Amino acid sequence: MFAGPIQDLIDELARLPGIGPKSAQRVAIYLLKAPAPESQRLAHALVEAKQKVRLCRMCFNFSENELCVFCSDTRRDPSVICVVQEAPDIVAVERTREYRGMYHVLQGAVHPLEGIGPEDLRISELVDRVRLSREGETPVGEVILATNPNVEGEATAMEVLRALAPTGVSVTRLASGLPIGGDLEFADEVTLGRALEGRRRLQGA
Ligand SMILES: [Zn+2]
Repeated sequence: MFAGPIQDLIDELARLPGIGPKSAQRVAIYLLKAPAPESQRLAHALVEAKQKVRLCRMCFNFSENELCVFCSDTRRDPSVICVVQEAPDIVAVERTREYRGMYHVLQGAVHPLEGIGPEDLRISELVDRVRLSREGETPVGEVILATNPNVEGEATAMEVLRALAPTGVSVTRLASGLPIGGDLEFADEVTLGRALEGRRRLQGA
């Protein structure tokens, strides 16, 4: 094993999702062997992103401004909100070119084993958004639940459905056809586009 700064770097890298101790070691060695400007670019990009990127105050997508590119785009349809778990899921839905509405990023999914409950997600903010829209010109008429087609995603969809029930808004779920147990982020655009098109209405809890 290493010691000092090298081990510190390996330890930090190993904390990243999807990076085990072996990969952490490989990346650390690569960075140490790389020319100084290369490592500095990475460090700079990390600090810059951390400083400049925040959450959109409307939908909780990542954004450099108070409102993200979708929430500030007046050509999009504000009467439909597509609810996703994480920001990269937006990219997946956008790739289908089937959707022109707004988004809401929950910032995760319910996961009882990891202690993540519905109160840890941006569900109440979604309910507020739907309620508040009724005072404006374009009330939200449909909420599409595009959480992942796995156990956590389904449980999350049910929690959102339950929270939205008192508002009476129409709630739909992506049609089947998506690979079960998969991540929305990795669904191909044709499959996801069809799932979006064939979405079905859920009965209020
Ligand atoms: Zn936004």
